[in-house]
Amino acid sequence: MGADSSNPIRKVCVIGAGTMGAGIAAQVANAGVPVLLLDILPKDGSNRNAIAEGAVARMLKTDPAPFMSKAAAKLVETGNIEDDLAKVAECDWVVEAIIERLDLKQALYAKLEAVRKPGTAVSSNTSTIPLEKLTEGRTDAFAADFLITHFFNPPRYMRLVEVVTGPRTDATTAGRVSDFIDRMLGKRVVPAHDRPGFIANRIGSYWLQVAYNATVDLGLTIEEADAIGGRPMGVPKTGIFGLLDLVGIDLMPLLLKSFTSTLPEGDPYLATVRPLTLVEKMIAEGYTGRKGKGGFYRLNREGGKRKEAIDLATGDYRPAIKAEVPRAKLPQLVALPGKTGAFAWTVLSQVLGYAASLVGEIADDIVAIDDAMKLGYNWKYGPFELIDQLGAAAFAKRLAEEGKPVPAILATAGDRSFYRVEGGKRQYLGTDGAYHDVVRPDGVLLLEDVKLAAKPILKNGSAAVWDIGDGVACFEFTSKMNALDGETLKLLGQAVEHVAKSMKALVVYNEGGNFSAGANLGLALFAVNIAAWGEIEKLVSGGQQAYKALKYAPFPVVSAPAGLALGGGCEILLHSDAIQAHAESYIGLVECGVGLVPGWGGCGEYIDRWQKSGLLPKGPMPAVAKAFETISTATVAKSAAEARELQFLRKHDGITMNRDRLLADAKARALAMVDGYQPPKPPEFRLPGASGRVALGMAAEGFHKRGMATDYDMVVSNALATVLTGGEADLVDVVTEEQMLALEKHAFMKRVRDPRTMARVESMLETGKPLRN
Ligand code: NAD
Repeated sequence: MGADSSNPIRKVCVIGAGTMGAGIAAQVANAGVPVLLLDILPKDGSNRNAIAEGAVARMLKTDPAPFMSKAAAKLVETGNIEDDLAKVAECDWVVEAIIERLDLKQALYAKLEAVRKPGTAVSSNTSTIPLEKLTEGRTDAFAADFLITHFFNPPRYMRLVEVVTGPRTDATTAGRVSDFIDRMLGKRVVPAHDRPGFIANRIGSYWLQVAYNATVDLGLTIEEADAIGGRPMGVPKTGIFGLLDLVGIDLMPLLLKSFTSTLPEGDPYLATVRPLTLVEKMIAEGYTGRKGKGGFYRLNREGGKRKEAIDLATGDYRPAIKAEVPRAKLPQLVALPGKTGAFAWTVLSQVLGYAASLVGEIADDIVAIDDAMKLGYNWKYGPFELIDQLGAAAFAKRLAEEGKPVPAILATAGDRSFYRVEGGKRQYLGTDGAYHDVVRPDGVLLLEDVKLAAKPILKNGSAAVWDIGDGVACFEFTSKMNALDGETLKLLGQAVEHVAKSMKALVVYNEGGNFSAGANLGLALFAVNIAAWGEIEKLVSGGQQAYKALKYAPFPVVSAPAGLALGGGCEILLHSDAIQAHAESYIGLVECGVGLVPGWGGCGEYIDRWQKSGLLPKGPMPAVAKAFETISTATVAKSAAEARELQFLRKHDGITMNRDRLLADAKARALAMVDGYQPPKPPEFRLPGASGRVALGMAAEGFHKRGMATDYDMVVSNALATVLTGGEADLVDVVTEEQMLALEKHAFMKRVRDPRTMARVESMLETGKPLRN
């Protein structure tokens, strides 16, 4: 990463260092681009930059972190609009993220017009103010460079940016900014029309409002509403009330006020508006959600922790009651008798009907609307994908039967679906009644699309191999949670043979939420319970062999993780020629957390990375100490940038900001290595031996004495220290890769037989948390 030579935006200015502005500035810095962050002068105090500086300081302590690494914060230069506005002349893009007031925004643009250099793009992060109003009184030259870029909170993690242009906006300017937002900031740009709330908030606010009303009208508890309105509808499991708690209940009256004053007369939203008596009371008393004293749900800490839920009728809290919803597909869900079906239908019919009525009005096509809801509200399916699940014709029929308006696009669809696959391509139904290909931007390659057009080259129950073109194969984990098992390893071996025979390169990649959280612990636990030690040893050896075959294969291998890449998932990265990581990759060797040591070659590979990093003093000890520090504490890098600092990624490994571009980037990297490719030479380790082990033991003992490590942590870290220092080797000995693998296996097998290890594994499987025994 770092300033990308193909995008002319080299420096950015963000004005307004509040929630959004600060977060956007952090994301620009995460992309390796310098950013100037300005705010107003503070009301008191002598530090004129206090607001912007305070925002950066706060972000360094925020969890989840807005910065991908502490180093990124150094790219943010802070200032204030009185002293530093002239510096805007150094910037190629100015993002305005000040409070939502037209007069203040307009006054700021007048000042910007005087200081910006011609061609510098200016965009507003406004949620509600039309572009037309924002550019009132501005010259054509300014308006040509002006657009709305609507980020979602928090900007690092939410993938949607709605981009709105006006009649005077220059297409080149909009293209330049959109390209930067896409490739550098890693967001999916969704073009939206200049209408109140754009796409996601327009539909999202309506959704929350109708769901709230339906809960009250049907007399549901909020737990029932969230159980029906969450997972079964493919929306986050927080459901409706959980989501409101998360984003802040104080948002409700604000949205209501904004939409009631801006939406055209007759808009269905206006008919949903009711006095928010309970909500207003909650806000007044500080119950604004998770950021306040609690919200619709709260944790009552009196006499132990208890989850409580509000009773919408009385406004009083009572113990939360888990609500069960029968597992059913959408058509069955909306047909269920009683409150469940009634609630599901009331909400879906209104929200999907509303979305359908807005095609053409808020966006050109259904794809933009589906993308906006999936990326801006974390819905698993967009409104039109949900209508397809219900059946467009069946949906329209029931609306008509109930005397509700049937949106034009539903009539256009008739008994067809909104999406279909034709000739191996995903197509959507346009407002013209014809199907069109869903077009991916240049440089976007998705396995999801590859799968529509072809069958896998190889496949078993845990993995598959795909031809992604130009002689490159893609190895995909397909098991539950992408956990690695014997089948994965078997197919990996077959894939290496296949590519060696008839293809040029291999990419290890998948489109699951997580690359892989490591070996299948459930299977391991099962094997231990029946004392199948031979099976376990076979899995360890099998992994070592498969990963070695990958490493020494006669073709380049590029691994492309996104999300978690832990344990065995991390070790596969360590055995690849190169890594092309999504910026949001969380990489670590976490085996010690469950009482084990890395057993598939991770120990040796990780030492090798530190030894070759060029960052450490000479001698065997520094690299071993670094590896010990990271592995014994099961440290997980919280971004690809952090993974680079921890040497999971090397200098030549790449980072892709946009998830959609990861596979294409990995493939290009693999192809670039094909000519003259030589497999790596086996490493030879010079390790510190027994004296090194003693030194590591003393360091660990320090933690133990301070109560930061348990007795069993000491046993595990001792086993790890023995592997990392080369076992019984003396300082002068050269330890081969084979010997390192044997040490790993020995230590692994010993730890796996210890009941304390299995207690940790069991706890991990049950609670997802390591047991500190
Ligand atoms: P905020 O209140 O957290 O921050 C606004 C910042 O702007 C404050 O630090 C304030 O001191 C500063 N400011 C006010 N007037 C200024 C001026 N004249 N010059 C420079 N700085 C000035 O607000 P926010 O939530 O970050 O919202 C900022 C913008 O983003 C708004 O237009 C809002 O509608 C939009 N937005 C907000 C969200 C969200 O979830 N909060 C999401 C998308 C868009």
